[in-house]
Amino acid sequence: DAPLLQVEHLKTYYPVKSGIFSRTTGFIRAVDDVSLTIRKGETLGLVGESGCGKSTIGRSIVRLENPTSGRILFRDEDITTKTRRQLKPVRTRLQIIFQDPYSSLNPRKRVSELLSEPFIAHKLADKKDIPARVGRLLELVGLPRGSGNRFPHEFSGGQRQRIGIARAISFEPELIVCDEPVSALDVSIQAQILNLLGDLQRELKLTYLFIAHGIGAVKYISTRIAVMYLGKIVEIGNKEELFRNPKHPYTRILLNAYPPPDPEARSAGRILIRGDVPSPEHPPSGCRFHTRCPYVRDLCRTAEPPLGAEAHAAACHFPLDEPSGLPVLK
Ligand code: SF4
Ligand code: MG
Repeated sequence: DAPLLQVEHLKTYYPVKSGIFSRTTGFIRAVDDVSLTIRKGETLGLVGESGCGKSTIGRSIVRLENPTSGRILFRDEDITTKTRRQLKPVRTRLQIIFQDPYSSLNPRKRVSELLSEPFIAHKLADKKDIPARVGRLLELVGLPRGSGNRFPHEFSGGQRQRIGIARAISFEPELIVCDEPVSALDVSIQAQILNLLGDLQRELKLTYLFIAHGIGAVKYISTRIAVMYLGKIVEIGNKEELFRNPKHPYTRILLNAYPPPDPEARSAGRILIRGDVPSPEHPPSGCRFHTRCPYVRDLCRTAEPPLGAEAHAAACHFPLDEPSGLPVLK
């Protein structure tokens, strides 16, 4: 399939300021040379510890952040440096849902009003048709049609996420960046929201970039998975491949943390990650994972391992090549 979105050598840096004149004294390299492709209809899972830059990729793609360099192509159109006005026609096609939908919902407006706004702002429907559209949206996300006259605070966390999703799909987007949409929810509710996202994907032919800090949610919904560490993608591949034979030591550590091991299995040869995540302002030389990698050798400290262009690629000088023994997920 043709790529829907291409990210080429994306860098998104944030200035670090200090002193009374807040001079720029350095940069947080939140995203540091990331390339990836998202094909129509797929779900690319993006996983990594908090602070590794995955949200910044998502926010850069929908241009809530301005990339420092590199290119973002949506349907072959370069959107990297478009202004707000230039972006408006693309906006509807490219949506984002957040971990905390409440923060993006005006608490003083009724849900029906919140869901009407996109139709009005982007002239997506005739005024007389809007109530029916809003009713249909509520139905699509599994809320009662009549619930539109309530305010956001009258809904539970899971229901609010449904409202956030309803708002995103009201634009009839092609790509939705899901930035940790279930991380703040109870486990039982997480499954419901993931199922809803799956159903909507099939019904509305949506494409997702699904961001999470743990492999748990990503494993259900993704067709491919990209693993991030300190601003870079360290491994990317089909979900089955990645689970069957994780090549990068960091991926293996993330996968070993899933499912949560029982106490007996805990001592049975699992690799444990050591140390803290280094600062994205001063990332380690060579392989950025070398300060924590159980397999580190001299070369790793000086030479940066490239991420190959293969369908299943890992940025490691000494990729692992033995089956993980983990159940292969469908
Ligand atoms: Fe570990 Fe070296 Fe591979 Fe980096 S390149 S992940 S330090 S083995
Ligand atoms: Mg985040």
